[in-house]
Amino acid sequence: MAAPQSLLPRIDLPARAAMSIDVEDWFQVQNLAGSIPRDTWESRDRRVVINTDRMLDMMAEAGARSTCFVLGWVAERHPDLVRRIAAAGHEVASHGYGHELIYEIGPDRFREDIRRAKGILEGITGTPVLGYRAPNFSITDWALDVLAEEGHSYDSSSFPVVAHDRYGRLTNAPSGRCAYQPRPGLDEVCVSSLRLMGRDIPWGGGAWFRLFPYPVFQWGVQRILSQGRPFVFYIHPWEIDAGQPRVRCARRSHELRHYTNLAACGPRWQRLLRSRTWCTIGELLGQGRRIG
Ligand SMILES: [Zn+2]
Repeated sequence: MAAPQSLLPRIDLPARAAMSIDVEDWFQVQNLAGSIPRDTWESRDRRVVINTDRMLDMMAEAGARSTCFVLGWVAERHPDLVRRIAAAGHEVASHGYGHELIYEIGPDRFREDIRRAKGILEGITGTPVLGYRAPNFSITDWALDVLAEEGHSYDSSSFPVVAHDRYGRLTNAPSGRCAYQPRPGLDEVCVSSLRLMGRDIPWGGGAWFRLFPYPVFQWGVQRILSQGRPFVFYIHPWEIDAGQPRVRCARRSHELRHYTNLAACGPRWQRLLRSRTWCTIGELLGQGRRIG
C-alpha cells in the first residue's frame, strides 16, 4: 500500500531539461489500434529503425542526450538499433514488450510483459535497465508495485495532472510535484505540464507539441524551467515521419491526434534540441535531492 500523500518522499530535481523518446513504430500506437490488428504488425512497413537513426543523428548534431524507452518487440527485431542508441551515450530504458494498456491486461500479464522487455534490453546492452514508461501513459497503482518487484528503479508514465481520456491514474501523487517516491525503491518522474490561467496543460510533447506554434511552446518550456522545475519532454520516432502509411480511424479525434503536423515536427524538434542542453531522465534523478 502506498503511504498517504503527505508521507510520500518527495524528490527535488534540478531545473534541467530531460529528453525522452518512446521507441516504437507507427503501427503500434494506441490511436490507430482499432484499425491495425496486432497480428498484422509483422507484415507492416517497418520504419522505426530509419526514423530512430534520424533522431540519433539530430541529437548528435545538437549534443543532446536522451532516455530511450524502447519497446521490447522492436528491440527483439532490431538489436543493432538498441546498440547504436547505447553507444551514442543515451540511456536505454523499457517501454514494455507488447504495447498493451496496463489497466487492460492486469497484473500477471503486465509482469510477464515488463520482465520480457527488460530481459531483452539487458541482454543486448549488458547494462541494467532502470527506467520504465507505460504505453500511452496507462500507469496504474498496482503496476508500481510490480515494476519495483521486477527491478525497475523509476517510472516516467504520469503527468502532474490528468488531462487525457486514456492516461492512467496514480493516487496519492503529491499535487504539483514533478518527482516523488511512490514505493520504496521506485521513483516517479512526471512528464511536464504547464499551469496556465488556472489549468494544467500537458506541455511535455505529443500532439500538443505539434499543435502549438513553436515560439509559444518554447515560451512554456522556459517558464517551467524559470520556476525552478525540471522540463521532461517525450516524442516518438513516427512523429518525425510524414511519409508513414496513412490509415483511417473509426474515431476522427484519434486520427487527428496521430497525424497533426507531422511534416513540421522533425525540424521543430531539431530546433528544440538546439535551444538548450538536454540530459537523460536517469541523470536528472541522479541530481535530485530527496526530502522526507
Ligand atoms: Zn508507446
